[in-house]
Amino acid sequence: MADLSPETKARLHKQLVKLGDMMGDGLHHEADGKWIAKSYKKTLKALGLVKPVKRNITGINERMAQRVKEVVCQKCSFTLEQTRSGSKRAICLACGAKYQLLK
Ligand SMILES: [Zn+2]
Repeated sequence: MADLSPETKARLHKQLVKLGDMMGDGLHHEADGKWIAKSYKKTLKALGLVKPVKRNITGINERMAQRVKEVVCQKCSFTLEQTRSGSKRAICLACGAKYQLLK
């Protein structure tokens, strides 16, 4: 996160170290210590150290929909279909040959 002030960043870093120490002691495993791990994750996120892992599935599907229209099976010239949502591979509906259609 680029819009954090240096003061905020310093504070968050300090908090992170403190929470990390507590987790090092195993406090987050105790019944009333669940907030520690939660805060740790939140702090990491606030500092921009954890990037949300989200693939652009819609974009892939759209490009694949276009690719399977352009490409036919090299073995039998039959129609290809995306193997599953979010996949960059397609399978021939006739012979089952698989192709990588997107890089
Ligand atoms: Zn085929």
